[in-house]
Amino acid sequence: MIIKPKVRGFICTNAHPKGCAHSVREQIKYTQSLGAINNEPKNVLVIGCSTGYGLASRIVSAFGAGAKTLGVCFEKEPTERKTGTAGWYNTAAFHQEAKNAGLYSRTINGDAFSHQNKADVIDIIKQDLGKIDLVIYSLASPRRTDPDTGEAYLSTLKPVGEQVTTKTFDTSKKLVHEITIESASQDEIDSTVKVMGGEDWQLWLNAMSKAGVLSENCITTAYTYIGKELTWPIYGHATIGKAKEDLDRAAGELNSDYADLALKAYVTSLKAVVTQASSAIPVMPLYISLMYQVMKDENCHEGVIEQINKLFRGHLLNDDPTLDEAQRLRLDGVETNDEIQSIIKTAWQKVNNDNFDELADYAGYHQDFLRLFGFDFDEVDYEEDLDPMVSW
Ligand code: NAD
Repeated sequence: MIIKPKVRGFICTNAHPKGCAHSVREQIKYTQSLGAINNEPKNVLVIGCSTGYGLASRIVSAFGAGAKTLGVCFEKEPTERKTGTAGWYNTAAFHQEAKNAGLYSRTINGDAFSHQNKADVIDIIKQDLGKIDLVIYSLASPRRTDPDTGEAYLSTLKPVGEQVTTKTFDTSKKLVHEITIESASQDEIDSTVKVMGGEDWQLWLNAMSKAGVLSENCITTAYTYIGKELTWPIYGHATIGKAKEDLDRAAGELNSDYADLALKAYVTSLKAVVTQASSAIPVMPLYISLMYQVMKDENCHEGVIEQINKLFRGHLLNDDPTLDEAQRLRLDGVETNDEIQSIIKTAWQKVNNDNFDELADYAGYHQDFLRLFGFDFDEVDYEEDLDPMVSW
């Protein structure tokens, strides 16, 4: 099969196995170039391990700290006629690289929100690892089935309170235009909190504690995006922002519930990057393209692997890390500082169809988007006839 990108709106419906493997190797190389992380963690569970921030967290755990990693993801395997998802190929490549390096790795592909998935993971921990000392919670999902009631919930990306009219960039039509997004109903807010809030993170830690597989001094973190004025209407102060506020509640409860284990639960705020999750959010492609241009001009551009290396090497594993007023770890300071935000805001006010290419790094955005699926790497031969059937 010769595999070329099939982009439909904000998603690419196929993936390139060799391109995904290349991308994983690049992240490993970057992590190794920074040297070894010398203390804990030894055994790491990454929930949402196959793409974006979760994959980077797994790579830094394994190839930075030398940890054994157990991952959970929800990916489609390939068939003879259709490629697998990028996360499938990323995971296959991660396993291969971990094996070459003599590092334990195992992945469960299934619905992390279910009780069964948690039970399967706990069985593996008991069999292979004993206890876990770091739990990374990096799920991004549009839906969740409550494991007790069987009720399905959908998350929505809508403003809270009032409707919002804002600029956006339509990546299919290549047009900067205004959109009006209606405000969410209370039901939509509640459902989004149910999907992307802290409940499932707590269920994971509760199940693991009950099974005795959390080590003393265990650390856990869930990821959030806070952003600033430009993104607040559709993110920070919107339905997804409400769900993310619920992570703060969950972190507080985890810290008190597991004080006997001296567990440390943090919400970590990371910068905006191109991932499958963020490209689906209205406004984000425009905001990220403008932000990329500004941060590249100012020499402070960072992607997922740079952010997660910083997190592990300077914050998450510290005995007494610096926290913000809501007890969160903040890795987004460079993006959200006033100076950078004011340059982005000026560009935002000016941007239109005529000056978009000049003000925004859409080329960089689009390249990062294609690379999520293993495309647009110079080192990969996209004319090669490949077998999509890669397993792990
Ligand atoms: P992503 O889409 O790249 O990754 C999502 C991961 O979740 C994948 O591994 C996927 O397989 C897994 N997943 C989804 N549904 C699942 C299910 N039901 N069961 C098991 N696994 C499932 O997303 P991302 O952008 O890396 O986001 C990860 C976290 O980081 C999210 O909490 C997100 O809000 C946060 N974050 C993202 C950004 C950004 O700009 N992308 C910025 C800050 C914080």
